[in-house]
Amino acid sequence: MNQQTYDIIIVGGGMTGASLAIALSGHGLRIALIEAAPLKVDTVPNYDDRGIALALGSQRIFAALQVWDSMADQAESIRHIHISEQGGFGFAHLDADEEQVLALGYVITARNLGAALLKRLSRLTDIDIIAPERVQWVNIEDDLAHIGLKQQTLCARLLVAADGGNSFIRQQLCFDVKRREYGQSAITANITPDQPHDNVAYERFTRNGPMAMLPMTEQRCAMVWTVRDEMVGEILSLNEQQFLNRVQQQFGWRLGRLQRTGIRNSYPLSQLYVPDTIKPRAVVIGNAAHTLHPVAGQGFNLGIRDVAALAEVVLQGIRSGEDPGSTVVLGHYQNWRKKDQRRVVQLTDALVRGFSNDILPLKLARNLGVLVLEGLPTARHLIARTAMGMQGRLPRLSRGLPL
Ligand SMILES: Cc1cc2nc3c(=O)[nH]c(=O)nc-3n(C[C@H](O)[C@H](O)[C@H](O)COP(=O)(O)OP(=O)(O)OC[C@H]3O[C@@H](n4cnc5c(N)ncnc54)[C@H](O)[C@@H]3O)c2cc1C
Repeated sequence: MNQQTYDIIIVGGGMTGASLAIALSGHGLRIALIEAAPLKVDTVPNYDDRGIALALGSQRIFAALQVWDSMADQAESIRHIHISEQGGFGFAHLDADEEQVLALGYVITARNLGAALLKRLSRLTDIDIIAPERVQWVNIEDDLAHIGLKQQTLCARLLVAADGGNSFIRQQLCFDVKRREYGQSAITANITPDQPHDNVAYERFTRNGPMAMLPMTEQRCAMVWTVRDEMVGEILSLNEQQFLNRVQQQFGWRLGRLQRTGIRNSYPLSQLYVPDTIKPRAVVIGNAAHTLHPVAGQGFNLGIRDVAALAEVVLQGIRSGEDPGSTVVLGHYQNWRKKDQRRVVQLTDALVRGFSNDILPLKLARNLGVLVLEGLPTARHLIARTAMGMQGRLPRLSRGLPL
């Protein structure tokens, strides 16, 4: 069997893997991108209708990667974030003007985001796209990582696992994983209310779980509603009007009457976290390294920061004559990313568990907490910087600089 040699093999053509291939292109590297599904927007599993809230820092990365221009028309800006609890007295808000930015972030469907990534990829001649092909085995040796496809084997100095929450590469290489089950699922639908959303992203904590209503183009809103697993079947079986009534009950009337809904989808939720994301010649990134509850819309934002940091560290290493799969280069990456990954995983988990509880003192504490937050501009600023993905040491791409 012939063996093709690369500098870097990326497994997974979802939003994380495709973004990394684009970031590494143009620097004289031999790169392979392997995806199990045909690499088209209608076939890659997660290029679906879910609304993705992109933090400002993520938008800057896409601008630096020259992908933003083909997304901008389908993205709606978030200028305000409004956080409240059903039946509670506290609320808090974050505001773009207060942060002196045009937008705190943007909302775009995963489908449109995926389409923009694939369009850019199709113009890059230095990436071998191997799809549909599923990696069947992995073997790491001192100087190279080897992988097996159906009819061929490939090897590279660095193997990047961007193959999602059920990562095959992660399992084969025995990365340690921490998991938490929530017994919750997300129901998503794009909903049209009768009042303009005015670029406000609402995060509402309800007795039945948190609900986000994010501003989208054409005056639609991307709804993400977290419910207990046992409620999913019943909610999905409601007819359109019953469903809208149920969402209205949970969300309230801030956007007037909810008039229309698009396709409903559901996603079982759990948390997965890989504390050590590197091994010799291999690294796990994106959902393969951390799969989050969507309550704070941080999953992909964390993944794209992995991409920006990994591309920077690898290219820096290569320029100084280092091996991109060496533990020295990968160690730089891990040291850089660890704090952000751990913080976002912990914050998301705390939000899910803190707001999934109806015990009165906890409820009171939550409402007092958001009221205090509302009165403390410095705390609000810190939270806004975190939500915008602009905390800590920023990769060059997040600052709009080329690699
Ligand atoms: C309801 C919901 C709402 C969300 N909202 C937001 C949000 O507002 N903001 C945000 O930042 N994030 C959000 N997220 C998270 C975001 O969707 C994910 O973080 C993102 O899709 C992960 O992308 P990925 O490329 O890392 O993984 P995936 O999308 O899982 O991609 C992995 C790819 O690897 C391929 N693959 C798997 N195994 C193999 C193999 N053996 N060989 C070859 N290929 C393989 C798969 O086919 C797949 O295409 C949300 C998630 C959900 C569920």
